[in-house]
Amino acid sequence: MYPNILRHPGPTPIPKKVQLAMNQDMISHRTREFVQLYQDTTKRVRPLFGTKQDILLLPSGGTAALEAAALNTVSPGEEVVVITVGAFGDYFVSICEKHGFQVHKLEKAWGEACTEEDLINFLKPLSNIKAVFATYNETSTGILNPIEKLAHVVRTQTDALFIVDGISGIGGAPAEMDNWGIDILVTGSQKALMLPPGLALLSISERAWKVIENNHTPSYYLNLLSYREWALKGMTPNTPAISLIVGLSSVCDLIEEEGGFSQTVARHEVMKRMVREAMKSLSIGLLTTDVYGSPTITAILAPEGIELSSFLGHLKKKYNLDFAGGLGHLQGKIFRFGHMGYCFPSDILEAVSLIEAGLQDLSYSFELGAGVLAAQKVFLSSQRK
Ligand SMILES: *Cc1c(COP(=O)(O)O)cnc(C)c1O
Repeated sequence: MYPNILRHPGPTPIPKKVQLAMNQDMISHRTREFVQLYQDTTKRVRPLFGTKQDILLLPSGGTAALEAAALNTVSPGEEVVVITVGAFGDYFVSICEKHGFQVHKLEKAWGEACTEEDLINFLKPLSNIKAVFATYNETSTGILNPIEKLAHVVRTQTDALFIVDGISGIGGAPAEMDNWGIDILVTGSQKALMLPPGLALLSISERAWKVIENNHTPSYYLNLLSYREWALKGMTPNTPAISLIVGLSSVCDLIEEEGGFSQTVARHEVMKRMVREAMKSLSIGLLTTDVYGSPTITAILAPEGIELSSFLGHLKKKYNLDFAGGLGHLQGKIFRFGHMGYCFPSDILEAVSLIEAGLQDLSYSFELGAGVLAAQKVFLSSQRK
C-alpha cells in the first residue's frame, strides 16, 4: 500500500514534529505557562502577516474569523464592496448579505484575478463605502490577487477599511500587512500553516480598531474588543484551542529552522514554478496565468481526452495520491494541486511522477518523464542561485 499523499489545498499534511508537540499534556488557559505560550507564539507569527500589530486567536474555522472581521466593522445598511474571483470570495458576499450590508459585488470570471484597473473603475461611481473585502489567495481557482496594488487603490481612492481573507495564502505567500495598508488580515490553521483545522488568526490595524470601537457589534463570541482586552493579559476570553497554539509554536520553530519566513516564501515560489512547468511539458493546461498563479495551489485543466473524475479516482486508488477536484461549475473541468505548508520540492517531484504514471495507465499520449524533467530543472536552477 502506498503511503497517503495528501496534495489538497487544506487540510494539509502536518509535520511529525508538530504532531508530537500537540501530544503534550494539556495545560489550563488561565496559567502563567499558557500566558507565556500565547505571548511568545503570537509574536513569532507576526512575520507571516507582515505586521507589528498583535495577532488574535479564535478557536474556530477561518470562516468565523471572516465573519468577525465583517460584523465588528460594518453595521446593517452600510455600503461595502466585495471583490470575488471564485468560491471563497463568494463567502464574503454571503457573510455581508447575511448581516444586511448593502453589497456592491466586483465579480471576475473564475480563473482571473482582480486587477488594479478593475478596482479603480468599480470604485469610481461609489461613495460612502465602509469597507472593501477581498480574497488574497482564491483557493477554488489558484489565483493570487495583486493584493498590494488593490490595497493601494483602496487607500488612495476611499476612506474604507480593506479587509482581506488570507486563508490558504498566509504562511506560503508573502504578506506585508502594515506596509501594504491592509486593515484586517485573516487566516486559518489547516491550510498553509501545517496544522489541523480549528484555529483562526487575525490581525487588525490601528485604523480598523478605531472603527471597531465605534461599531455596534451584535455578537458576544465574535466580539473582537473582548479578544483585544484579554490579549493584553496574554489570554483569550474563552477556552482557546490550546493544542493548536502549541502546534503553532512548533510551526514557528520549523519556519525559523528553514532560515526565516522569506525562505518559506521562496520555497513556495519554486514549487509553484515546478508544478506549472511540469504540466506545460505534459501539454496539460492551467486555469491561471503564470503572473497571477498562486504559490500555494495550482488549478490544472483536465488532460486532453481524459475523464477527470476517473483519473483522480485512479490516482487515489492505485497510488494513494489525493488531489482536490474543482468547485461549482469547474467540477469535472479542473483539479487542484495543493503545494502549501509542509510540502517541499521533493514532494512535487513525487506527485508529478505519479501523475505521469496515472496518465500512462490511462493511455494519455506524452513523453514519459517530461513533466518530472521540467520540474527538476526548475528545482535545480533554484538551488544554484
Ligand atoms: C478554506 C478557506 C476558507 C474557509 O475556511 P474554513 O476554515 O473552512 O472556515 C475561506 N477562504 C479561503 C480562501 C479558504 O481557502
